[in-house]
Amino acid sequence: MTSVSPHKKAKALKPSSRRPAKELCSECGLCDTYYIHYVKEACAFINQQIDQLEEQTHARPRNLDDPDELYFGVHQDMMAARKIEPIPGAQWTGIVSTIAIEMLNRGMVEGVVCVQNTQEDRFQPMPIIARTPEEILAARVNKPTLSPNLSVLEQVEKSGMKRLLVIGVGCQIQALRAVEKQLGLEKLYVLGTPCVDNVTRAGLQKFLETTSRSPDTVVHYEFMQDFRVHFKHEDGSTETVPFFGLKTNKLKDVFAPSCMSCFDYVNSLADLVVGYMGAPFGWQWIMVRNDQGREMLELVKDQLETQQVMTSGDRKAAVQQSIPAYDQGVTLPMWAAKLMGVVIEKIGPKGLEYARFSIDSHFTRNYLYVKRNHPEKLEAHVPEFAKQIVKQYKLPDS
Ligand code: FAD
Ligand code: SF4
Repeated sequence: MTSVSPHKKAKALKPSSRRPAKELCSECGLCDTYYIHYVKEACAFINQQIDQLEEQTHARPRNLDDPDELYFGVHQDMMAARKIEPIPGAQWTGIVSTIAIEMLNRGMVEGVVCVQNTQEDRFQPMPIIARTPEEILAARVNKPTLSPNLSVLEQVEKSGMKRLLVIGVGCQIQALRAVEKQLGLEKLYVLGTPCVDNVTRAGLQKFLETTSRSPDTVVHYEFMQDFRVHFKHEDGSTETVPFFGLKTNKLKDVFAPSCMSCFDYVNSLADLVVGYMGAPFGWQWIMVRNDQGREMLELVKDQLETQQVMTSGDRKAAVQQSIPAYDQGVTLPMWAAKLMGVVIEKIGPKGLEYARFSIDSHFTRNYLYVKRNHPEKLEAHVPEFAKQIVKQYKLPDS
């Protein structure tokens, strides 16, 4: 095992330097541990190194000449799936929780890094190392806020655990991969979800208050493939709000600066990714990146209904039009937003083309954000694949 002595030096860091990424910090949790010693190399917002870490993790680089790999990263397989018996209360059908439980039950891992919520607040994240299926189940459903998942890493080393599964989003996983060799583990499995437009707890409150009819009773929400935000309330009712009706002018500053400058939407460094955006409405989207990811998926295959991924429509004109609309904070009246939602749902991009629509819209927006707010970082911070994606569109000059 790697000596822990270098970590100790980190304890001497002054409080002012505890978040070296400053306003770009996504609160991934690394800096709450003695692994802060590695922050200058490991932090996704200080040292973007997706290319090198992809090779380290998947034993080959992303093939930029393959249109699917350009967008979705290194992968062996992709599919749409849903659990035959969904887990009640999960974000979608609970594929993530099910894989984690199987891995624990079969002894493949001794613990699972996942995120429960605090007793007082269903959306306040509380990262834990789960050691029982019940603890994993209690972490189901998204806490749609920045979550310091890596803050528990010190406990992993202290516990002497050697086989670990980490569930997390892209920025957390980039820092994790960068310190992976320092953790003293024999085996690390990574189950990732895509992630975009995350917020602080205060930002989430503003989003809910600006968008939902009853912010205090929301238990779950998702930006769905039908171009609507679906809110689920405590009484089981569902509320939908068309994307085009969001109060963009009020919400512009809600998203965390880290998420406005992130280009790892699809969690490039996980072994297995479970999201929804490349799948038809109502289905989850699974991407197997490497052999470990395949091993993880195999454990639950008999509990899943699957189908091939599909793609239809053409996103390009919609993305190009959304660039100035977002930039100028245009908000449509609700009747027009609903109408546009209906039209775009009928003729708009679906399946993988919907995923490309979402990636293009966010990458162009984020490219402009970094260019304007951190011009000195632009060249090194934007990965090559993202530059190629952004290049397809005409952006405002400044
Ligand atoms: P469940 O079985 O309900 O398990 C959810 C898991 O997520 C839990 O294990 C929990 O530990 C973990 N988790 C919860 N909150 C966080 C958090 N804040 N940070 C890290 N881990 C967390 N998919 C897309 O296709 N497109 C997106 O734009 C997208 N955005 C997302 C944004 C966030 C903040 C998160 C957490 C996920 C996002 N996803 C996105 C993934 C998607 O919403 C589902 O989480 C995924 O499909 C798994 O669903 P499930 O029912 O299998 O998960
Ligand atoms: Fe530290 Fe993570 Fe914040 Fe970077 S994003 S400064 S590694 S806590």
